[in-house]
Amino acid sequence: MEFSSKFLENAVYEVSQLPGIGKRTALRLVLHLLKQPERQTEELTTALTNLRTQISYCNNCHNISDTEICEICANPKRNKSIICIVEDIRDVMAIESTSQYQGLYHVLGGKISPMEGVGPQDLNISSLVQKLKAGGIEELIFALSSTMEGDTTNFYIYKQLEGIEIKTSTIARGISVGDELEYADEVTLGRSILNRVPFENSIKAN
Ligand SMILES: [Zn+2]
Repeated sequence: MEFSSKFLENAVYEVSQLPGIGKRTALRLVLHLLKQPERQTEELTTALTNLRTQISYCNNCHNISDTEICEICANPKRNKSIICIVEDIRDVMAIESTSQYQGLYHVLGGKISPMEGVGPQDLNISSLVQKLKAGGIEELIFALSSTMEGDTTNFYIYKQLEGIEIKTSTIARGISVGDELEYADEVTLGRSILNRVPFENSIKAN
């Protein structure tokens, strides 16, 4: 693509770095911004800058939050004796949208993936184990997607639980293998949480 302006070229390049956006789409978006009032670009820039500089994570569950303790963890109506392990905020949002779960979450921040160089130490696993050792938690629900990485992560965490008295369960796999949690419809996902099965059963099935 030949550009008549370096400024245009740079803007197109940066936008095209986003996933799913090719050079052509990037050019269309940039030209669209140029036609809009300057204020719109300023607001977009400010929102993105704030996203990177202001965002923080809940001290308890590691979910993205504007406060030290997120709204879910701070809510006195939530059942603090149940923790649901998820990969990221998208899973929290998906499960919350079902209105079928009243416990807390623990956001790992990813899945163990040797292919992508992600090991257990790169995830929020040690803080989870500490939390469980501290007591007061009765049930741990594994809700990672049923991919190989998800299963590996589940099993790794399960192994860390030796010596800790706790009930473990996994969401019922109405969701087919390989599907991401975020794509399951609300009814299916809600039902999976209600019909969760003991985690040991899911290991035997594999
Ligand atoms: Zn939290």
